[in-house]
Amino acid sequence: MSPQALDLVIIGNGAAAAEAALAARAAGYRGELDLFADNPHPPYNPMLGPYYVSGAIPLRHCFPFGGLEFYDRSRIRVHLDEKVVRLAPSEKRLTTDGGAEYAYGTCLVASGAQTAFPPIPGLDSPGVYGLRSCDDAVRLKEAVALATARATREGSRPRALVLGASFAGLKVADALHLAGMDVCIVEKEPSVLPLSVHPDCGPLIEHHVREQGHELRLGVTIDTIEVEDGRLVARLGDAVSRDGAGDASAPSVGQADLLVVCTGARANLAFLAGSEVDAEAGLIVDEHLMTSVPGLYAAGDVAQAIDPLSGSHQVVALWANARRQGRTAGRNLAGLHAEDPGCVSCNIQKVGDLLFASAGSMQEYDRLDVRPESGGLTAWAYRDGRLAGFNLLGDASPAGPLACALARGRSVNMAEAASAAGWARRIAWMSSNAG
Ligand SMILES: Cc1cc2nc3c(=O)[nH]c(=O)nc-3n(C[C@H](O)[C@H](O)[C@H](O)COP(=O)(O)OP(=O)(O)OC[C@H]3O[C@@H](n4cnc5c(N)ncnc54)[C@H](O)[C@@H]3O)c2cc1C
Repeated sequence: MSPQALDLVIIGNGAAAAEAALAARAAGYRGELDLFADNPHPPYNPMLGPYYVSGAIPLRHCFPFGGLEFYDRSRIRVHLDEKVVRLAPSEKRLTTDGGAEYAYGTCLVASGAQTAFPPIPGLDSPGVYGLRSCDDAVRLKEAVALATARATREGSRPRALVLGASFAGLKVADALHLAGMDVCIVEKEPSVLPLSVHPDCGPLIEHHVREQGHELRLGVTIDTIEVEDGRLVARLGDAVSRDGAGDASAPSVGQADLLVVCTGARANLAFLAGSEVDAEAGLIVDEHLMTSVPGLYAAGDVAQAIDPLSGSHQVVALWANARRQGRTAGRNLAGLHAEDPGCVSCNIQKVGDLLFASAGSMQEYDRLDVRPESGGLTAWAYRDGRLAGFNLLGDASPAGPLACALARGRSVNMAEAASAAGWARRIAWMSSNAG
């Protein structure tokens, strides 16, 4: 039997997918548009999951494009709970987990990413969670409620471990704390936010994280997870101090009711295994978000697009990036020839009363300027005479405009980008120091 023929297909139903559908329609695409989702929900915002778990917002606020009527409104023929398990780009065919086969004309992969669980024995135990999808958030919130009820019965406090002092890890720790749990964050590197933070910022952030009431265990590896009396016990490996020295006498992190893994994400690409499309951490795309196979596009956390700073291909796992790439891809699905301007990674996190922002690369630089600011500091990394990355601890409000300036190099008027008066002076200083 020949497969059903479809024109335009979108795989996934996150921000990138939703924006692509809206942009394709806005650009005049009038044909049929089929969207495949491995879940029964409207487009969901994963970064709001922690706020739902903490009780700060109801679940319905996690669907920024509205409820299921979104699909009808955008004239999308939606295939809910139909996971794509195989995509053959050269044949333009896809297969779903129900065994249905389809042929298509053009396809956008917007399947996002999932929690990457490190290979620690016991990490598949009950009580261990990831926090990515809507269903993950619902499961974690239920687990928090159960742990709280048990602790109340036993006259104790509910306790959670968070694996990874990443941006997501710190957000999740705050959410669990707000939900009434004691939280211990365990990080194998000797610093919080190890990929984003300058060594001078690290201890200040750590101080504020501890002030918030979190227990922070840095430079500690977990060797195994075991379940004892319905609670999780993490057996620790060697500890590493900030100067890199080993410390075999790491004390235990104690028992916990639940553990949330926040050690990074992995692009959802399994359905392309064995295909000829170029992929590394994500699908390699050009400035039009086209993959190496004509007619196949990718956007969002599954795409590895050109980084305007380095010229290499990078996954930028940010909500705004997924939306913008989705819009660019949608216009191209509609037959336009839109180019994506790209962006650099920029994260902002509340630590105590301060905000911390990090953008670009703090790993590779040939010159670094660190300046104490009232209650915090700023660190500016330069490479080849150009700003390559920064950390702002304290007032992080100009981070967004500065990250845009970073991405676009000197062609952007940085003084205009940072509207706050004090920042014009700092930017003038940065620019005069760039050479
Ligand atoms: C806890 C957490 C906190 C975050 N905080 C921030 C933040 O503060 N700021 C920020 O900018 N970003 C943040 N992010 C990242 C941001 O949420 C993502 O970058 C963004 O949601 C990516 O959107 P996407 O559409 O590419 O992917 P997703 O949102 O992952 O959507 C992809 C969809 O495709 C579906 N899918 C996957 N595989 C298949 C398949 N085979 N068939 C059919 N459907 C499939 C998935 O179930 C999912 O619904 C956070 C993420 C998390 C998890």
